[in-house]
This record gives sequence, structure tokens and C-alpha cells, in this order.
Amino acid sequence: MKQAVSFNRLARYERNVPRYTSYPTAVQFTESVGFDTYKKWLQTLQDNEAVSLYLHVPFCDELCKFCACNTQVIHKEALRIAYGELLCDELYRLKALLKSRRRVGFIHFGGGTPTTLPPITITKIMNTIRQYFNIEKNADISIELDPRHASSQYILLLNQLGFTRISIGVQDLDPKVQEACGRVQSLAMTSNCIEIARKQNITSINIDLIYGLPNQTCKSLSETIQSIIRLKPDRLAVFGYAHVPWKHKRQNLLNGEILPDTLERFKQRQLIDDLLRIANYQIIGLDHYALPHDSMSKAAKEGKLHRNFQGYTIDNAVALLGIGASSVSILPKGIVQNQLSAAAYQKAMRLEGLPIAKGVSRTIEDLLRWSVIEHLMCDLYVDLEILAKKFKRPKNIFDNDLLNLVSFEEDGLILRDYYKIKVTEQGRPFLRNIANIFDVYYQSSPHRHAQAI
Ligand code: SF4
Repeated sequence: MKQAVSFNRLARYERNVPRYTSYPTAVQFTESVGFDTYKKWLQTLQDNEAVSLYLHVPFCDELCKFCACNTQVIHKEALRIAYGELLCDELYRLKALLKSRRRVGFIHFGGGTPTTLPPITITKIMNTIRQYFNIEKNADISIELDPRHASSQYILLLNQLGFTRISIGVQDLDPKVQEACGRVQSLAMTSNCIEIARKQNITSINIDLIYGLPNQTCKSLSETIQSIIRLKPDRLAVFGYAHVPWKHKRQNLLNGEILPDTLERFKQRQLIDDLLRIANYQIIGLDHYALPHDSMSKAAKEGKLHRNFQGYTIDNAVALLGIGASSVSILPKGIVQNQLSAAAYQKAMRLEGLPIAKGVSRTIEDLLRWSVIEHLMCDLYVDLEILAKKFKRPKNIFDNDLLNLVSFEEDGLILRDYYKIKVTEQGRPFLRNIANIFDVYYQSSPHRHAQAI
């Protein structure tokens, strides 16, 4: 359904707020939480609980000017192999700390570009995971892939190693946009990758797109989306470009003056939404889309969608264990992050233990508030009374938050029946703003977070 939006409303909600992929969010991480705390949390996991693994590879073949990921260009194969050895070592240390051999249902390789790992290295890492963990029969094993540099042999190897899903960065197909972003990638490169993967058992394909980039217009985006729809990816993640050059220095290379303004960004988002819905994609939460057969579509319909720092997910494991530089681990007791840069990670791995840089403990109220935020972001609905009861907290702890929701209700972005909150279709683009109301740690600062809309 077309969403009418006034400039006044956009201006009212134009704030810099977290993406809410965890709670407390990353700005609350401190060095007071380190390896010793993480070790205790790991040991509180129940024996029979499955865990998920995330492996971060901070290397790319080329750098895109818009990218906010923790990554760098490393061409020397020896360095890529050495990093892979560290990942195997970290997996060994991790399994030694877990009380029992764990089942694993979800494994994701992210980055950077994890396909920069040489074939021998990715093979060794997968063998190491199989050696230390029990990978479930229908495990979801996925990897981010750069079609400009992944050979057909590499995709065949991924299939042999058991990968079931690839995530392909496209962002935009317009040459003028690609030129401005320093990422030139033809449609043929992307479609070849998809074709090779689909001939194997890699049947789930995700494509990442970005709006709000330099030189992007609704007309150019419309052409990009029509071409992407013809490739029939099972899932799409559609993000608004977050211009935060004070945080990510390489974004200074982008000409900020030719970025679309907030109203234009909003129009671009609406256009993408309209075109994808017409093509039978189901919208998932704020910014993901999936075809009806896809497991993410089914999970969304059944209220089984989750959110972690990778975005929307169907992963429901109690713990997500991060391996590699900057990777984040999420456990019920708290969240930790590894040393951020590859160099700091390598240095920390020379010591005993795990290379934790910082983290945050989670109180029962944090878990309750995360549950509220996750329900809003995933289901667009939450019953605060039921959740307060589940976490054994009085429902009136939300009374202040409810007062702060009044303007959202007046603007038609939510419908409220006492403690039940339903986000309307008009409210969907403002989900981060709505979730933000329940974030008691939030301090408004343009330098901490990216633009919400
Ligand atoms: S967008 Fe992907 S390929 Fe480009 S720099 Fe970032 S991680 Fe590397």
C-alpha cells in the first residue's frame, strides 16, 4: 500500500538511532567486560542447547567507498592463510571452554569478503568446525560473496563444503552510481554467480541493495530493481545508506554533496517497496524481503523471526558465538565483541584465552526490553503486559515509554490498546524510532548512530 508521508513528519522523526540488532546496543560495550566474564557466561549454557557460529573475515579485494564494515584490502595470500589459522585456533579455544560438544544449526561467514580466504583455508575452517561441533543435518550454512572476485570453482567448492546459502552484494546497477561508489559490478557478474550456485545445492540466494547512494534517483533505482527481480533472488536486504564519515573514514571519499536528501531517500525506499511487493516479495520487518517459499517468509508469518547483528534471521539458538576480528557473541548473560582490527585480533591471539575487547552484561530488564524491541522490529506487534509477566517484572515499568509513544499514535504510526502496540504499515519505516522509545540507555548524538530513515 502506498504510504503518504509529509515532510513535517519526516523531519520530526529524522534522528540518529541504533539499528537495534542487539540490546543493550554496541555503544554500551565497555572494556570492563572481558574474557573472564565471557568464559563464565559460556559455562552457564545448558548442555543440550544448540549454538550458532559467526566467522568474520576482515579482508576485501577492493574497497567500496560507502562501506561501513570492518575490513581492509589484503592481497598477500600468506596473510589470508595466517588469518584462517587464527580462526581455527579460536574455534579450538572456544570448544575447550564449552562444557560439551555442541550442536550447531546456523553458521555464517561475514566480512569483509569471506571468499577472499583461499580454498585451502576455507576448507580447513569448515573441517575444523566439523571436528569440534556437531553440524545439524539441515544446518543453514551461509557466506557473503563478492561476484567480482569469486570464481566458478570457488562456488563449486562452497557447495562441496556444505554451504546452503550465498549472500551477494550488489547495492546498485547504475554505472553512474557504481562509479561514484567505487564499486563497478556488471549485472552479468551477479547473474553468472547465481546461475552457478543454483546448479549446485546452494539454492538460497540473498542480494543486498542500498538506497540513498550518490547519483541514485528513483528512475535509476527502478531499473536496478526490475533487473534484480528478473534474477529471482530468494531474499533481499535493502538498506538505507548510512553516511557516517566521522566513524568510517573511507566514506569521506564519497561526495556527500550528491547524496539524496531525506525526502528523496524516503521516496526511493517507497519505490523499492512497491516494486518488490508487486513482484510477490513479502516484506520482512523493516528492510528485508523474501519470496513466499523462503524460510524467512514462513518464519515471519509464524511469528518466529529473530534479529541479531546480521539483521533479520530465522536463527533461534540461545547463543551466537562470534569468531574472528570484531565479531560479536550474544549470550543470555551478555554480549561481547572481539578485538576490532585484524592486527589487534592477531596480537590478542598470541595470549591465552579468547581475544575479547569489550562487552556488556544483560540484566533481566535488558532481556525484557530486548524482547519488546525484537517483537516490534520483527512482528510489528508487542503485548507489553504478557512480556512483563514472562520476565516477572511489573507492567508499569513501561508507563513512561507509553507516554513517549503518544506522538507516534497521533501520527498513525502505531495503534495502541493499553499495553498492546501494533505498528501500522505507515509506521513500518519508523520502526527504529519506535523501538528507540524502549531503549533506556539511549543518548541522542548524531556521532553515535546513523540516520533512522
Ligand atoms: S561492501 Fe563488501 S566488498 Fe565492498 S568494501 Fe564493504 S565488505 Fe568489502
